[in-house]
Amino acid sequence: MSSFSYRNGITSKGVGMKLDNYSSKSSSSFKSKVQSTGSSIRRSSTGSVGGGSKDDSAVSGRVRVAVRLRPRNAEEMVADADFADCVELQPELKRLKIRKNNWDSDTYEFDEVLTEFASQKRVYEVVAKPVVESVLDGYNGTIMAYGQTGTGKTYTLGRLGEEDTAGRGIMVRALENILAEISHETDAVSVSYFQLYMETVQDLIDPANDNISIVEDPRNGDVSLPGVTLVEIRDQKSFVELLRIGEANRFAANTKLNTESSRSHAILMVHLKRSIKGRNSSLSTESTGKTLKAPIVRKSKLVIVDLAGSERVEKSGSEGHTFEEAKSINLSLSALGKCINALAENSAHVPVRDSKLTRLLRDSFGGTARTSLIITVGPSPRHRGETSSTIMFGQRAMKVENMLKIKEEFDYKSLSRKLDVQLDKLVAEHERQQKAFQDEVERIALEAQKRVADAERNYADALEEEKLKCQKDYAESIKKLEEQWAEKQEKHGQRKVKFGPVDDGIDQKSNSELSTSGEVAKIKKTLQNEILLRKAAEAEVNNLRNQLTQWKKTEAARNDEISQLHKLVEDEAHQKARLEEEIAILRSQLLQISFEADQTRRNLDIGGNGELSGSLDSLIPQVKHQQPRDSGDGEKASMVKLFEQVGLHKILSLLEADDADVRIHAVKVVANLAAEETNQEKIVEAGGLTSLLTLLRSSNDETIHRVAAGAIANLAMNETNQELIMSQGGISLLSFTAANAEDPQTLRMVAGAIANLCGNDKLQVKLRAEGGIMALLGMVSCRHPDVLAQVARGIANFAKCESRAISTQGIKAGKSLLIEDGALPWIVQNANNEASQIRRHIELALCHLAQHEANTKDMINGGALWELVRISRDCSREDIRTLAYRTLKSSPSFQAELKRQRIDYG
Ligand code: ADP
Ligand code: MG
Repeated sequence: MSSFSYRNGITSKGVGMKLDNYSSKSSSSFKSKVQSTGSSIRRSSTGSVGGGSKDDSAVSGRVRVAVRLRPRNAEEMVADADFADCVELQPELKRLKIRKNNWDSDTYEFDEVLTEFASQKRVYEVVAKPVVESVLDGYNGTIMAYGQTGTGKTYTLGRLGEEDTAGRGIMVRALENILAEISHETDAVSVSYFQLYMETVQDLIDPANDNISIVEDPRNGDVSLPGVTLVEIRDQKSFVELLRIGEANRFAANTKLNTESSRSHAILMVHLKRSIKGRNSSLSTESTGKTLKAPIVRKSKLVIVDLAGSERVEKSGSEGHTFEEAKSINLSLSALGKCINALAENSAHVPVRDSKLTRLLRDSFGGTARTSLIITVGPSPRHRGETSSTIMFGQRAMKVENMLKIKEEFDYKSLSRKLDVQLDKLVAEHERQQKAFQDEVERIALEAQKRVADAERNYADALEEEKLKCQKDYAESIKKLEEQWAEKQEKHGQRKVKFGPVDDGIDQKSNSELSTSGEVAKIKKTLQNEILLRKAAEAEVNNLRNQLTQWKKTEAARNDEISQLHKLVEDEAHQKARLEEEIAILRSQLLQISFEADQTRRNLDIGGNGELSGSLDSLIPQVKHQQPRDSGDGEKASMVKLFEQVGLHKILSLLEADDADVRIHAVKVVANLAAEETNQEKIVEAGGLTSLLTLLRSSNDETIHRVAAGAIANLAMNETNQELIMSQGGISLLSFTAANAEDPQTLRMVAGAIANLCGNDKLQVKLRAEGGIMALLGMVSCRHPDVLAQVARGIANFAKCESRAISTQGIKAGKSLLIEDGALPWIVQNANNEASQIRRHIELALCHLAQHEANTKDMINGGALWELVRISRDCSREDIRTLAYRTLKSSPSFQAELKRQRIDYG
């Protein structure tokens, strides 16, 4: 949409305004972009989604101002009956005329002009609805009413409309609108309601709570009131009930304080939290192919402000109140006017901190919220002065530009909770499976044992039985044979007795043969029987034997099964170990991302001038110490915990990962850890320093170079590490990195590392021999002030060590190595650099160099003497000034030169 300048030319007093359509029917026109006039420097931001590119989501949005005229009331009908209204409205032209006298009037343009006939519904739609819709979209929003007491501020904002729904005010309609739009499963609304009177915040929901403090988040400047009652709203009825309680409490509190509600500001704060479906930050791991999602939440805030009567500010002046009295009548209201003036005039200083109201509304004017102001005026000519000043307030507010910013962030907490639950589940499932396997294995082993024992017992029983049977059979057959034998013997014996030794005839002989052959046949039969029996017994034995081998086979099969199950258990254990490894990697990625988010957030808060350079600021100790120590302590603790769980070795091993992204993540994690002194020793012990130096050599990626150099710079703060770095060829690696760097931030890290090494007395000669000084001087061509500051620090460190070595060890002072390496011209050129961080280091370096006579000749020829004289006179730091002065006084060569130039130096 176009925006155009419009100079209101009807009378000389018209205020020039930038206008664009503020359509009454469509809320979308409210969202139209207005070109920034430059007053949008003051931006607050929370960690917004989209991390890197800071302001891509910011949209400029001017404060919208509507004017509403109250109809004449009964008293005015009578008292002003003979007079015309002091204002005349031209709603279709969005103009308001205020009568000066009978023949002259001033005309003003507003975004919307609402006549005395405008319905509450229409007022809601043009003033509030666009703001409420923005809040539903994730922006902060403000709706505020300003005007003289009795002109309809509370009527416009706070009417409950219980007796007549058409009369409902903006607060009731706004909540109705919000509750209809949100989903009760994923979104939540809660409200607080309080008043501000004489710079004290009183809870209107819990009136005992009458001294609530305002807290500002040091990271992003967000204000909050932790002491105020916050009520979650589920339906419209409970909200209206809450407003009613608030109204009653406001009345009671004001009676107790002996004041009227027109002196206090009533503020309704609606907090909206919405989960965004379908959009997530995804971390996917290659091996599992699973995707972890950090849900996105939008946390926006709608603030509805029913201000104290505006006549308070005016009266304090016109009725001869003193300034102090005015302040106590309504400090907040006059501070609001001052802030709006400052913002409208684009002034560099906006006195936001002057009052509680302006602190509370910091985001509403000149901040990131969409703001709509309704100014209310009455028709009576008797209040022309008040009406006119209200109109001027509205006109100034129209010039205030906000930069709308969506309040969106990743919900890392819920992702982390989800991961924890998943992990617990996996572990429990694994344990359950393992236990089931063990039980199964035990059961099978027991069963097998039992079966083998059974088989053995059966076999032994059967054998025993068979043996007994065979023995019995044998015993019987032998007995039979013996009997037969005995019978036979007997028969033979009888015959001998009967016939004696006489040769008896053939008859007898054939008779006895006959009976013998019968015996033989009988015995034969018995024998055959025996043989059959034995065969049957043998078959039985074979059968049992077969059975036994069968059992043995089954047992072997069982054993196989058992060993297979054992293998399965082992596989499971492997699988578990792999899963655990993956979880560790995921955790480290999560750690990295949340750290980066935190970092980005912090940078957005500190930086603000559009540079992304700060993303590694925590690596440089000076910057780090400026940040409040307590900020994000909780997060840091959880980071340390995660890091302990993942394990340093694991993270370090990821520095050599094949995947470039993993390497970058890993080096960032290591760098962040190295920023903490407590981690440094552990990192070095685990070989981290060597790995980082190796990365400088082996990687071609500048991000890796930059982050690794930053980590090395942090490690190089410690003396033992400095020696380690030097002994591993650190200087040539750092010089090499500097020579190939394109990003000034890489140079800044490298220079920072070398600067730290320059501060070690023992390494001076080696550092210089390996080209450390030349490397530093090589980096000045980059001209980036951050880089120059590190170079200057290195030179100052080096000069300090040199001069200390000479004065403490009594070494015969030769020329400074810095001068030998040609640093002097650059030092002299930058001795008065406008950046104080560069200048300070160089001033110190000059003082150190000047301590030694061997340097004075070069210093005089190079112009350094004049810089020293300047420092001794003009330096804003007294200690440096004195040092320079003493140095000059005690040096015979400098004194002689000053004398020669006829300069009276005393
Ligand atoms: P304020 O809050 O600015 O002091 P109020 O909202 O209390 O003023 O309004 C003062 C009186 O004027 C109330 O009786 C109110 O009902 C009435 N009033 C204000 N605006 C309107 C309006 N637009 N139409 C009808 N009556 C109004
Ligand atoms: Mg009121």
